[in-house]
Amino acid sequence: MIDFRSDTVTQPCAAMRQAMFDAPLGDDVYQDDPSVNALQDYAAELLGFDDALFTPSGTQANLLALMAHCGRGDEYICGQQAHNYLYEGGGAAVLGSVQAQPIENLRDGSMDLNKVRAAIKADDIHFVKTKLISLENTINGKVLSQDYMAAIQALAFEHNLRMHLDGARAFNAAVKLDIPICELVQYFDSVSICLSKGLGAPVGSLLMGSQDFIARARRWRKTCGGGMRQAGMLAAAGLYALQHNVARLADDHDNALYLAKQLAAITELDVKPELVQTNMVFVKSEVVNFNELAAALQNQGIFISGGQVLRLVTHLDVNKDKIDKLVAAIKRYIRG
Ligand SMILES: *Cc1c(COP(=O)(O)O)cnc(C)c1O
Repeated sequence: MIDFRSDTVTQPCAAMRQAMFDAPLGDDVYQDDPSVNALQDYAAELLGFDDALFTPSGTQANLLALMAHCGRGDEYICGQQAHNYLYEGGGAAVLGSVQAQPIENLRDGSMDLNKVRAAIKADDIHFVKTKLISLENTINGKVLSQDYMAAIQALAFEHNLRMHLDGARAFNAAVKLDIPICELVQYFDSVSICLSKGLGAPVGSLLMGSQDFIARARRWRKTCGGGMRQAGMLAAAGLYALQHNVARLADDHDNALYLAKQLAAITELDVKPELVQTNMVFVKSEVVNFNELAAALQNQGIFISGGQVLRLVTHLDVNKDKIDKLVAAIKRYIRG
């Protein structure tokens, strides 16, 4: 089975499973699970924050961040394509009484600074209170520039707003820019990262921030049902992922480019290898129905997402050999 649907589909390797098996355990709701504490300490240090919190999912990490930064009647500004606006079930509104103010994302994933500025509400009883700007990096596989993040931070300072980064794939961005992760996230009051995407852990995310912020987030985590007990078995996988699977994200980026170049040679497909920055390839076509393609490939043990625009994602369980198999199967399907 070959799976290009997402980088969430990876299987833990033997050494990661061993680390999970060997993990010393406690009760993390009492904050005495040594493996969870080790992961949180390691990540806080690595990203340059005071404290960190292990969560069951990235969705929950983002929700806790929004609820810890914003209260009832507050809002956060984010991209129209932001995961924490589009793909998290409206959690901030549904569970946090927090309103989103989305701003369109430009082609490079950024937001127009003037539009962000214009969306910040004046202190007026008609308006909600703007509290937070939330960015995402990478966003749809694209890396935001450090200059852009610094400029948004300056705007946030000017208006006394906090800054959150949905860094589900922040390590992909840091590896792509060849800078330490702490440099990438220096502009933010809080950052969430996913351990269960390109980093290859089976489950889990982390939220980082100041001690006060994490204390508030921990409270909301309990409220949301995210207080896990002997969670060290999962945390050990996350620590293994952070210690072993960061630098190799460069292989995923190389593989995505390799895949894009193969697909660009197929005339029925519209693929732009020059737009591939990290581990995602986007494919359009006037003639190929991707849902039908997905169904045909599934019979051969190859999984892709389908949809209007086909998103193919590389990860640690994909190599050039598997990419060649995918490309060959797509060619067979198109040429009949
Ligand atoms: C995957 C993802 C999340 C969180 O996903 P979970 O499946 O809840 O872990 C958040 N933000 C972005 C950008 C993501 O890609």
